[in-house]
Amino acid sequence: MRKPPLVNLHPMELHAVPSDPSAILHPATAGQVLQLILSNQANSRSEIGRLTGLSRTAVTARINQLMAQGLVVESATNSSTGGRPAGRLSFNASGGVVLVASVGRSRIQLAVAGLDCSLLAVESVEANQASGPQRCLPPVVDRLYEMLAGCGRRPSDVRGIGVGVPGSVDINQGAMVTSIALPSWDDILLAPLFRRDLDVPVIVDKDVNVMAIAEQRGPLRDARDLLMVKASTGIGVGIVSGGALQRGSLFAAGELGHIPLRENAGVLCRCGQTDCLEAIAGGWAMVRALQELGRDVNHVRDVVAIALKGDPEALGMIRDSGRRIGEVLSTAVTLLNPEVVVIGGDLAGAYETFVAGLRETVYQRSTALSTRQLRIVSSTFGERQGLVGCATMITQWITSEQAVDLAVVGRSRPQASGV
Ligand SMILES: [Zn+2]
Repeated sequence: MRKPPLVNLHPMELHAVPSDPSAILHPATAGQVLQLILSNQANSRSEIGRLTGLSRTAVTARINQLMAQGLVVESATNSSTGGRPAGRLSFNASGGVVLVASVGRSRIQLAVAGLDCSLLAVESVEANQASGPQRCLPPVVDRLYEMLAGCGRRPSDVRGIGVGVPGSVDINQGAMVTSIALPSWDDILLAPLFRRDLDVPVIVDKDVNVMAIAEQRGPLRDARDLLMVKASTGIGVGIVSGGALQRGSLFAAGELGHIPLRENAGVLCRCGQTDCLEAIAGGWAMVRALQELGRDVNHVRDVVAIALKGDPEALGMIRDSGRRIGEVLSTAVTLLNPEVVVIGGDLAGAYETFVAGLRETVYQRSTALSTRQLRIVSSTFGERQGLVGCATMITQWITSEQAVDLAVVGRSRPQASGV
């Protein structure tokens, strides 16, 4: 029986920094003071006092709380005026690590990352995901903790865990609601399998949402309206609208691959419906079509590999896949008017061919105004998009005002939630 969550976690919004210092509640909390330091609005005790109205004693108390959590360091700087040395306060990126896992249908990528999301160790492991998480995850999580030891870090250094999975996730519970790729994972709480005996937060989200969150660390960090397309074995889209990730009322948003195309070809999809976009243009459909032509391919990455070597059928299928995905995507572009469409996933390995097709139909079928300034770009972190996204997601929570203030009162995570 699931318990109702105490808080609704929306990591992208949680990190929002108050741009107007007058928006800070009085008296400002340690969590709010950290936001001022993270956003470079304040780098000294006096600046914090000026922006928050806190007394010198109260500022000291907040800084002590942040230092006790290992989130802030103070370095002495020479005062040119000859007065008291003014310590420079900064975020302590090495004040712990996070563990991340990006679960795909055919492989699981693992990493240990710093609090600044730098990836300290990365591995890709094979596992039998179809056997369900209780069977498949223990050796994978063992490996993750071995990687941690390999980085010279101990379990007590772990501040949180971020996980991406291929299916719709109830992020408050940390469980997949529905996964067409991995149905045996549905409704199983994943946080305890990763957390083990550590008392740290674990955030689980859908793979393509995590990929969208990754863009918060790159040159597109200021994009408030963005569509992150994952074109791989399946096809999904992460929707950022008005600066917030949109998961939908039942976390079912973004299932681009299961929007039916208009033709009544009667092609059966993995979801049980017919003529879904991914049944015609998804990686698994291409693998099947090329196998029928006698090609030795088992995964969409094989399709990309032979296309890059010049296989005409594979190239044609990838371009056509781009066209068909662009057809459906144009509806989203017209409805949501994103400033940028980001392309990731395995098919992005043949980016030029794939995007040539996609661009063609997106521009043909969307309204003129919605595409006037639209940019279509490849994902910032390529193969590591999922890992960077998982690290971003969990570090955003750890450094959020809410999490810091919970830690001040001795709680590392909201009680009664899957986090
Ligand atoms: Zn379908």
